[in-house]
Amino acid sequence: MRYLSTRDKAVRVTAANAMAKGLAPDGGLFVPEVLPGLSARQIESLCGMSYGQRAVYIMGAFLKDFTSAEINGFAERAYSAKGFDTPAIAPLVGLGAEAGVGRPGSVAPTDTWFLELWHGPTSAFKDMALQMLPHLLTASLEKTGEERQVCILVATSGDTGKAALDGFADVARTKILVFYPKDGVSDVQRLQMVTQAGANVGVLGVAGNFDDAQAGVKRIFSDAELAKELSGCGWFLSSANSINWGRLLPQIVYYVSAYCDLVNAGRIVVGDKVNFAVPTGNFGNILAGFYAMRMGLPIGRLICASNANNVLTEFVRTGVYDKKRPFYVTNSPSMDILVSSNLERLIFALSGEDDKQTAGYMRALSETGRYTVTPGIKSAIDKIFWADFCDDERTKEVIATTYEAEGYLMDTHTAVAYDVLEKYRAETGDATPAVVVSTASPYKFADSVLDALGEGGMAEGLGLIDKLAEVSGTVPPQPLTALRGKRVRFDETIEADEMLGAVRSFLT
Ligand SMILES: *Cc1c(COP(=O)(O)O)cnc(C)c1O
Repeated sequence: MRYLSTRDKAVRVTAANAMAKGLAPDGGLFVPEVLPGLSARQIESLCGMSYGQRAVYIMGAFLKDFTSAEINGFAERAYSAKGFDTPAIAPLVGLGAEAGVGRPGSVAPTDTWFLELWHGPTSAFKDMALQMLPHLLTASLEKTGEERQVCILVATSGDTGKAALDGFADVARTKILVFYPKDGVSDVQRLQMVTQAGANVGVLGVAGNFDDAQAGVKRIFSDAELAKELSGCGWFLSSANSINWGRLLPQIVYYVSAYCDLVNAGRIVVGDKVNFAVPTGNFGNILAGFYAMRMGLPIGRLICASNANNVLTEFVRTGVYDKKRPFYVTNSPSMDILVSSNLERLIFALSGEDDKQTAGYMRALSETGRYTVTPGIKSAIDKIFWADFCDDERTKEVIATTYEAEGYLMDTHTAVAYDVLEKYRAETGDATPAVVVSTASPYKFADSVLDALGEGGMAEGLGLIDKLAEVSGTVPPQPLTALRGKRVRFDETIEADEMLGAVRSFLT
């Protein structure tokens, strides 16, 4: 199977090439030329498998230039008991007493389920892909005959940085350098990063906000002189964000896996529809759901949930994408984003794979800050998606009321999705069973969650974790409590204009 660029279908490369390159030379994103099908029979057989086996099966259908033994090895290393605190890897937890799969609840079954994607080493859903990406990437380098080593550069607002560090630590032929905004990440997120182990890792604080760090990384990527110099020393630069196909592909697996778990729990039979509500930022997570649906997974609706940065709500509702709007810092910061890069892949798919049209929209976005899709694309969106948003105050209310009524504690991002699901149900009356994609442990955003429970401002740093455990009677993830004994390895902070020099000295 080949991969095409969304901006020029004449660009056709192997899976290994697509993952080694990350971005197509024309600036487009790589997409598979066809989606493998998923029949009812196949779904039935996936029901009897472990998460790792499901991953091997589904990823194998996309990675025809990899052997099944290779993919098996990747899955064993990525989704192991060493990294994840539950053998289910991505457990489905039901609200309500008869929910079956999860913990006991207190009310009647509601057909609402939480797909907890945060049982990995860094307590956020980024682990589902970033535990896998290093294996895919290094194998792709081998396959494509790339002789240089790769340095992953990351600008992070918190979750991606730590998940990428954990995934790439001590991976052969790689180094990873993470830049985080000095005052733009939570105490827990900063400690997670600056204590990271591994001989090939580096972490630097940058004066300024996330955009300053991000702009700095973009400048470094487009510096041809630096690229040449690094190449001379046997290095090239790559990115770990969700433009890489190797980050998107592992995410398709958990949609299928959740569906199978609902079948196994006796709540649906194969063929029944399920809706998914997804807290959305860069559109990577929900796009994986779209691909699962296109493959044949019976998904009714994909519900796209945003915070106050509601550019996607407007897009899904009107067909107009307009990034010229105020940027809000919210209590669900991993969704504070105005340009959702993966939307390009959706538009390519829904335009009938029209590369000229897709390229045109992307040009308009960078030149004028907006574009409007055709009525044809808009009506395709209407058949699949529904969108709304949830502000900070409402997010806190949802956390508090769900905890009080159901005993279920969720983080701010998950609360946004749950709220938007309830709005969808109220507006449409659709009673299809629904899965809320839960993207972070409540402990990762302990300050906001404590605030929601009316216990804000009493603790700071790692004290927030103890406080949340005490208040909620839940058990914090071990990697977060283990931060307490860890030595700070990286305490350096630099100015944004020193980032390029930092990359040079990291590699040469
Ligand atoms: C990254 C992230 C999101 C947004 O996911 P996208 O794939 O960018 O849409 C949502 N919640 C959390 C906790 C995240 O870390």
